[in-house]
Amino acid sequence: MPKASILSQLFRGFFIFLGLGGLAVAIFILKTNTLPNRQSPAIGCINNLRQIDGAKNEWALLNHKTNGEEVTETDIKPYILLDRAGKIPHCPVGGNYNIGRVGDTPTCSLGATVTPAHVLP
Ligand SMILES: [Zn+2]
Repeated sequence: MPKASILSQLFRGFFIFLGLGGLAVAIFILKTNTLPNRQSPAIGCINNLRQIDGAKNEWALLNHKTNGEEVTETDIKPYILLDRAGKIPHCPVGGNYNIGRVGDTPTCSLGATVTPAHVLP
C-alpha cells in the first residue's frame, strides 16, 4: 500500500472520529437542555404556586389584610419575580392559576388531574 493512501485513510478516520465526537456532544447538549423541562413541569408549576403564595402572604402582611380578603394579580405583582413579558409566571403546561383569597392556597387548574400533581404540598 502506498504511503499516500495510508495517510489519507488516517485522515479520513480522524475526521470520522471528530464527526462522531461532535455528534455525541450535540446529543448530550440536547438531552441536558430538554430533559429537565420535559420531566418537571410539575416542579416548575409548584415553584410558581409557591411564589404566588409567598407574594400573597407578603402583600397581606404589609397591607394589614386578614384571611378571607380578596387578592388580585395586580396586588401581588410587586412581590413576585415576573416572566419576560412582565406577567406572573404561568403553568409550564398550560394550567390556569387561581390565586384565591388571603389564607387560601393558590391552585393550578390541572391540580391532581396530572401525575405528578400540580398541587402545593
Ligand atoms: Zn400547573
